[in-house]
Amino acid sequence: MRLSQFHLHTSKETPAEAEIVSHKLMLKAGMIRKLAAGLYTWSPLGLRVLRKVERAVREEMNAAGAIEVLMPSVQPKELWEETGRWEKFGGQLLKMQDRKEAWYCYGPTHEEVITDFARNELASYKQLPVNFFQIQTKFRDEIRPRFGVMRAREFLMKDAYSFHLTDEDLGREYKNMYDTYGRIFTRLGLKFRAVFADTGAIGGSASHEFHVLADSGEDAIAFSSGSDYAANVELAEAVSPGPRAAAAEAMHKVDTPTQKTCEDVAALMGIALQRTVKSVALMGEDAEGNPQFVLALVRGDHVVNEIKLSKLAGLGEYRLATEEEIDQHLGSEPGFLGPVAPKKAIRIVADRSVAAMADFVVGANEKGFHLAGVNWGRDLPEPHEVADIRNAVEGDPSPDGHGTLGIARGIEVGHVFALGRKYSEAMKLTVLDNNGKAAAPAMGCYGIGVSRIVAAAIEQNHDENGIAWPEAMAPWQAVVCMINPKNDAAVSEAAQALYRELNAAGIETALDDRGLRPGAMFADIELIGIPHRVVVSERGLAAGTFEYRHRLASEAENLDRAAVLSRLA
Ligand code: ATP
Ligand code: MG
Ligand code: MG
Ligand code: MG
Repeated sequence: MRLSQFHLHTSKETPAEAEIVSHKLMLKAGMIRKLAAGLYTWSPLGLRVLRKVERAVREEMNAAGAIEVLMPSVQPKELWEETGRWEKFGGQLLKMQDRKEAWYCYGPTHEEVITDFARNELASYKQLPVNFFQIQTKFRDEIRPRFGVMRAREFLMKDAYSFHLTDEDLGREYKNMYDTYGRIFTRLGLKFRAVFADTGAIGGSASHEFHVLADSGEDAIAFSSGSDYAANVELAEAVSPGPRAAAAEAMHKVDTPTQKTCEDVAALMGIALQRTVKSVALMGEDAEGNPQFVLALVRGDHVVNEIKLSKLAGLGEYRLATEEEIDQHLGSEPGFLGPVAPKKAIRIVADRSVAAMADFVVGANEKGFHLAGVNWGRDLPEPHEVADIRNAVEGDPSPDGHGTLGIARGIEVGHVFALGRKYSEAMKLTVLDNNGKAAAPAMGCYGIGVSRIVAAAIEQNHDENGIAWPEAMAPWQAVVCMINPKNDAAVSEAAQALYRELNAAGIETALDDRGLRPGAMFADIELIGIPHRVVVSERGLAAGTFEYRHRLASEAENLDRAAVLSRLA
C-alpha cells in the first residue's frame, strides 16, 4: 500500500473527550471516528487492525474444530420470550418495531438464535458435538458507553456456541475453547490472565474470563502469588474513576438516614454480588393479602437480586416502600438476608466495604450464601481507591491454599461459559440419544470482544510517541519511508524497489510516498505503530545502506539490503 493512496488522517491534537490512552491514540491515529455515543466508524487504518484480530480469531477457532456461521443481528421478540430474556435482559436490549408493529431486538448476544438454529438442524446425537461460531456485530445499550471502542454500544464480537450429549463432553469442549483462547491471545501478543468469573445474565455453571492486564482496566482481578488461581472481583466497577462516581452516586443518592441504610445494604450486597447496584425498597402483597417487603437490587434498570423478607409466593405488583416501612423492616430484622453457610461467612468488619470485598474475593458468591451479621453502620462506606483494596486483599491467603492474593486491573476480552441445559430446555431443543430417546443437549458459549481487543492491545503497547503494535495486529509489518522523493528520483526508485521486494518476500509493507518532511513522516509512523521502519535517503544510498529502526528500539541502524531483508524475514 502506498500511503499517498491511502486515507491516513492523523492529528497532533490530543482529543479532550478521551480519558484513556487507547482512546486518545486511536483518535489521534485516525483509526476510529465517533458517529454518536458508543457508535464508531472504523477508518481504513483502523479496519486493517480490526481485520488482523478477526483473522487470528477465525483461524484459531477453525483450527480448534469450530464451524463458522453468520446469524442476523435483528432478532424477533418471540425467541427472547421463550427464554424469558425479553424482560430479564434489561436496559441493554435495544428493542424496535417493524412496519407491521412486530417487536425485534438488535442482538446483544445469540444464544436464542443459535438454539433455534440448532433445534431445526440437529436431530441426532451423531451430529454432536458441534461448535458454531460467528464474527458479527452486536448492540448493547450500555449505560455508560466510553473509552471509545473499549465499551461501545455497537461492537464486533466472536461468539461461539457448542452442543453436547453429555456434561463430560461439554467439559472437554470448554477446555478446548479455554486453550484456544490462550492461543489466540498469545498469538496477538497480549499479556493476559484467565480468571474465574461470575456467570451473570448469560447464566450457567462454570465460567472463565480472559483479561488483558492493564492499569486502565475496568475490572479488578484477585490472583494468587503461589498458584494459577485468579478471580474477577468486578469491584473495579465500584472503584475505578468512572464507575466509582456511579457507585458513589448510587450510594449517596438519598440522604435521609433510613434510606441511606437501605443504600448501604445495596452497596454491600452489590459488592457481594460483584456488581454496582442500587437498592429499591418495594412493598407488595402475598396471595393472602399480607404486605411483603422486598429490597430489590437494581443494576441499570435490571433487577439483579431480590432480598425477600418472607416468601414472595403470589406477589403481584410492587410499589415503592415508604420510609416508615423501610425503617421497620431494615431496623427490626438484621438477619433478614437469610441463612449463612457456616464455612463461608463473610467477615464484614464494621461497615468497611473493603473488608467485604476482601472476604468476597475468597469465593463466596455461591448458592445459599448470604451476608449476615452485618453491621449496617449508619456511615456509608466511602468509595475506595484501588490502593485500598490492594491493602485489604494483598497478603490474604489464596482460596486454593497456595500463596497469597494480589490485585491487578484487567480488561475483559474473552469469556467462556458452560451453559448446561438452560437454553436447550427453555427452547425445547432435543436430539435423539443412542437409545433413541429425546435428550436436551448441554451447551457452552464462548465470546471474544474482537473490537475491544484493538483498544486493549494499545493499553499494553504504547509509549509517549504513540502505538507500538504487536506484530500480529499491526496494520503493516513494515514501512519504507522516502526522504525527499520529489527531488530525488534515485531515492524514489530505490524505495519503490525495496517496497516491492519486501512485499514479494511476504512482509506486509507500506510505502510512505506522501512527500512529508522527515520529522512529520516519522511522527506519523510512530503514532500509528508500525513495527519496522526502513528509511531510504540520498545519504544512505551513497553509503549503500538503509536506515532501519524497530518501533521500540532507541537507535536506528544502517543496514544493507540483505540485512534489512533478513531482519524483517
Ligand atoms: P463487560 O463485563 O465488559 O460488560 P460482558 O461480560 O458483558 O463484558 P460478554 O457478554 O461476556 O460481555 O461478551 C463477550 C465479550 O464481548 C466480552 O468479553 C468483551 O470482550 C466483549 N464486550 C462486551 N461488551 C462490550 C462492549 N460494550 N464493547 C466492546 N466489547 C464488549
Ligand atoms: Mg457487559
Ligand atoms: Mg463481564
Ligand atoms: Mg463477560
